[in-house]
Amino acid sequence: MVAYALIALFVLLPLVRVGGVPLVLLDIPARRFHIFGQTFLPTDTLLLALLVVMVFLTVFWLTALFGRVWCGWACPQTVYMEFLFRPLERFFEGAPGRKPKGWIQTSGIGKPLKFVTYLTCSLVLAHVFLAYFVSWDLLRQWVIGAPSEHPLGFGVVMLVTAGMLFNFGYFREQVCLVACPYGRFQSVMLDRHSITVRYDRARGEPRTAKRADVQLPVVGVEAAAGDCIDCRMCVTTCPTGIDIRNGLQMECVGCAQCIDACDTVMSKVKRPTGLIRYSSLAAMSGERFRVLRPRVVLYPVVILLLSGLFAFTLANTGVADVTVLRGPGQPFTVMPSGDVENNLRLKLVNRTTKIADFEVKVEGVDGVRLGAEGVVRVDPGQTLTSPLPVLLPRSAFEHGRKQIRIVVRGPEGFERRVAHVALGPSEHSDHRNKEEHRKDPGESGEEEHK
Ligand code: SF4
Ligand code: SF4
Repeated sequence: MVAYALIALFVLLPLVRVGGVPLVLLDIPARRFHIFGQTFLPTDTLLLALLVVMVFLTVFWLTALFGRVWCGWACPQTVYMEFLFRPLERFFEGAPGRKPKGWIQTSGIGKPLKFVTYLTCSLVLAHVFLAYFVSWDLLRQWVIGAPSEHPLGFGVVMLVTAGMLFNFGYFREQVCLVACPYGRFQSVMLDRHSITVRYDRARGEPRTAKRADVQLPVVGVEAAAGDCIDCRMCVTTCPTGIDIRNGLQMECVGCAQCIDACDTVMSKVKRPTGLIRYSSLAAMSGERFRVLRPRVVLYPVVILLLSGLFAFTLANTGVADVTVLRGPGQPFTVMPSGDVENNLRLKLVNRTTKIADFEVKVEGVDGVRLGAEGVVRVDPGQTLTSPLPVLLPRSAFEHGRKQIRIVVRGPEGFERRVAHVALGPSEHSDHRNKEEHRKDPGESGEEEHK
C-alpha cells in the first residue's frame, strides 16, 4: 500500500499545480526551483543549503532509528523495482524457483511481452522523471511535436528511457550495491538499538534442513531443532541475494521481503511467525531496548534549529530581493546646477511568477531625488540591474558623506528600505577648490565640473 501510494505521489508531484506552479519543479534551464509553493532562485544559496542539510539529517535520524528504512520503503529505485517491474516479470516469466504456469509463461511469448511492457513503463517513467526538471508545457510540446522539431528534447527523452530500461531490466539492485553510497555509510549511522531486519538466531538454530512444504515437527527432532527449516526462501526472495541469517550486511536494503517469505513458511509449518523480524541487536541479545540515545536526540534538535532558521530566512525574503550597488567609475559628479550626482545601480530579483512593477523612491534629506524613471519592470523569476542616478544638494553632505534611503515598493504590499551612504565633496575639498579658484579660477572651475 505504501509503495503504490508513493508511486502515485511520485507521478503527481510534478503534475499538480498550485497557483499555476507545479508542486515540485527543479527548472534548471530557467534556474528556478519550485518546491511546495515556494520558489527558490540562484540567490537563495542559504535556503537551499539549509534544505539539503535538513533532508540529509532527517535521513540520518531515520537510519539511526530504523536502519535503511528509506531504501526499503521509499526510494524510487526500490519502489518501482519491487512493486512495478518485478511483479511484471513474475507475471510474464513466473517466480524464480517455481515452475512456469499459464499460457503466457509456458509458450515463450512471456519474454518479448515483458520487454515491450518494460519499454512502455520506462517511457512513461522517463517522462515523469523529466517533468521534475522541465516544465510540463515544454514536455507536452516534446510529446506531441515531431522529433525533428525538438531534436534535443527528443534525444533527452530517449536517453532517459534507455537509462530506465537498463536500470530496471538489467542493472537493478546493483544500483544499491555499487552506485549508491548510502549503504556504505550505514554502519556508522546504526547502533545496537537501531531497529533493522534481523534473523532470530537463538530461535532458528540449529536448522532442521526440512523443506517448507514438509510438515514439521518430526517426533524426537522437535526438541533439539531450531525453527529455521533451511528452505532458503528468505535468500531466494531477497532482491540483493544475501542470506540475512548471516547477520545484517551492507547489501541489505531493508525491504522486509525476507520477513514476508519466512512468515509464510512458518505459517505453513505451524510455527510462530517472526523468525525474521524487525528488531535491534540489543533486543536480540536479551538487552533492554533503549529508544532515547544521544544521536537519536541530537539529530531532531539540530533539525529543529535549522528549521527555525529556514522559516525565519524564508519569512524575510518577500516578493523581491533588493540590492543597491555603487556604479563604476568616479563615486560622484558635481553637476553644473550645483547638485551632486551619485551613479548607483539597483539590482532587483522578482521572486514571483508574474511580471512585477517596482516603484523606486529616494529619501533621507531635503531635495534628494532620482535622476531617472521611478518605476522598474521585472519579468517573473528574473534579475534586473538598472542604473539609479541619485541627485543631492551639495549642502547636504557632512565630511563628504550623507546617509540616504532607497525605498522600493512592489506587489502584495512589498516595501523594502535600503540605507546607503551617498558620497559628495567634503569641506576640505571645497576649501581646496576655493584656494585653487583664487589662484587660477578657470582651471579649478573646469576640474570641479569634471
Ligand atoms: S525462510 Fe525462514 S525458515 Fe526458510 S531458510 Fe529463511 S529463515 Fe529459515
Ligand atoms: S535481507 Fe531481507 S530486508 Fe534485507 S534486502 Fe534481503 S530481503 Fe530485503
